Amino acid sequence: MREKIIAGNWKCYKTIDEARTLITEIIAGLEPNLNRTVVLCPPYPYLHLAKELVIGSPVKIGAQNLWKEDWGAYTGEISAPMLASLKVDFVIIGHSERREYFKEDGALLNAKLKRALAWNLRPIFCLGEKLREREEGVTFQVVETQLKEGLEGLSPEDLLKVVIAYEPVWAIGTGRNATPEQAQEVQQFLRERIGEFWGNKVAEQIPILYGGSVKPENIDSLMAMPDLDGALVGGASLKSQDFLRIIHFK
Ligand code: PEP
Repeated sequence: MREKIIAGNWKCYKTIDEARTLITEIIAGLEPNLNRTVVLCPPYPYLHLAKELVIGSPVKIGAQNLWKEDWGAYTGEISAPMLASLKVDFVIIGHSERREYFKEDGALLNAKLKRALAWNLRPIFCLGEKLREREEGVTFQVVETQLKEGLEGLSPEDLLKVVIAYEPVWAIGTGRNATPEQAQEVQQFLRERIGEFWGNKVAEQIPILYGGSVKPENIDSLMAMPDLDGALVGGASLKSQDFLRIIHFK
């Protein structure tokens, strides 16, 4: 049985008081003996508070990004050793909003992944095609290139710490999710490529999440697919009742 992971990406939302309330409500609403990993990824300024609030609960904390160098004159950046010193568990790398608005490319993401792994942070590595690419029929080529560039030089042991999130760009924040069959097709393809590059053991164990307009109404049908091991959730992770329903998918 592969690890199941539900991760909430809060993006650039919430005040500190709202963050406290949301985390408290999520912890209070968790069913006992949860057999899945829950990750909350609040904005950087709330990571310390978040780590304190989840003490004694099964909830893990992730950052939404990190810088590719450990230390230096990089005003405004946050590095892997800083996150490690906060005991952050996960870090999102390669979100489509970072690729699009901050022009993050495969080489930069690869450097970030390596810093995360060096500091024992588990990367949630995002990839996915744009609408135009899907329409042109190049989805598989696009995600394979992103996979290869992002994970280049990583060993099978490294890969066992990585989480992949397949997030078709056309489904993020649009209310238009991929159908379970569309997500399954790409995620099965990704698992096969991972098996080819890093071996079957890695392919069998690595969690591959789906992200893109996941909601309480569609989570159960998505999670029924064999290669969907959880979800990376944006908008619906900002409301405790919605996120709790997603965490407790059937
Ligand atoms: C995301 O931010 O990774 C995401 C999938 O957003 P949303 O769930 O809002 O589409």
